[in-house]
Amino acid sequence: MSRTTVATIHLGALRHNLARIKALAAPAKVMAVVKADAYGHGLERVARALNGDAEAFAVAALGDGLRLRAAGHRQRIVVLSGPDQSGDIAEMQRLGLDAAIHHSAQLAWLAEASASRGRLRVWLKIDSGMHRLGFAPADVADVHARLAAMPGIDPDIGLLTHFSDSEVFDGAQTPAQIARFNAVTASFSGPRSLSNSAAVLGWPDARGDWVRTGGLLYGLSVVEGKSGADFGFRPAMTLSTRLIAVNRVGKGERIGYNGTWTCPEDMPIGVAAVGYGDGYPRSAKAGTPVLVGDRCVPLVGRVSMDLITLDLREAPQAKVGDRVTLWGPELPAETVAAQSATISYDLTCGMTRRVLFIEDEG
Ligand SMILES: *Cc1c(COP(=O)(O)O)cnc(C)c1O
Repeated sequence: MSRTTVATIHLGALRHNLARIKALAAPAKVMAVVKADAYGHGLERVARALNGDAEAFAVAALGDGLRLRAAGHRQRIVVLSGPDQSGDIAEMQRLGLDAAIHHSAQLAWLAEASASRGRLRVWLKIDSGMHRLGFAPADVADVHARLAAMPGIDPDIGLLTHFSDSEVFDGAQTPAQIARFNAVTASFSGPRSLSNSAAVLGWPDARGDWVRTGGLLYGLSVVEGKSGADFGFRPAMTLSTRLIAVNRVGKGERIGYNGTWTCPEDMPIGVAAVGYGDGYPRSAKAGTPVLVGDRCVPLVGRVSMDLITLDLREAPQAKVGDRVTLWGPELPAETVAAQSATISYDLTCGMTRRVLFIEDEG
């Protein structure tokens, strides 16, 4: 095998995680969020693994809906940003995709939707306080009435909002968003969808009719100090490589670019074949844990494009060819993310094209 860095996608973990989300969210139904190439795990691969179990998929953009239909998936597919241009409407009707509607520009395009192509299912997106996408509460009644009057639109209009802080379980923002959403939607009958992954864990009042879970599906958490495993989920990706050098380096010598780390004594330094060119974060600090075999050792020095350097004092038997694990079931991506000023989603989304993807049933 010419490439050393491998992302192994655990299909059994994906299925376990979806089953666990369903159990937590019931009686709400689950949209499996597979945007950004299924958080870097591979859109078609993940959709295939979940096909029998997923009632609906959610994607960011039309192109991903097209890919899912091309792969033969017949479920509901919700496009979370809706149409980006007028021509998208007919394409969404043709593909039978649900469209989130968040902006007045989209209403003008929708007015042209022809009922003869089949009624488009829409989700009216309400800005309950995140101030990214969605109609202001004061405009919702008017927008709902306009949508309801359009012949090309399914009259069962969904109601959707998104939380900015749902992983802060003792915060005031999410209850305020829930209250605003409930107040503005009280007189409508359509299906409701509020919760992302963290809200499924922390805000049972926000279950609604459909939850939209991405992170937990992949065994990832954005709750401060917690990994997906802490909530009973299994990481769906292991990133691994090999040790390609073990060197003795003397006390006082500097390691790597700009010598950001200095050896405190004569010691073994391991070099593993992974770097930011694969998606391992360049911002990972000295001390970030890495597994060599089953030994946990600290990263030292700067992450470079193709290589990282490791303090092997705690793994004196380590040798060239040993397996090196960057994250996975034995080392949460959340731990690496916390050392790199980011979140685990960013790590899995960041895998580059030179990483070899393989699958297992685990
Ligand atoms: C990405 C996204 C989600 C899923 O969020 P997770 O934290 O991964 O569960 C849900 N809803 C919307 C609108 C999103 O953009």
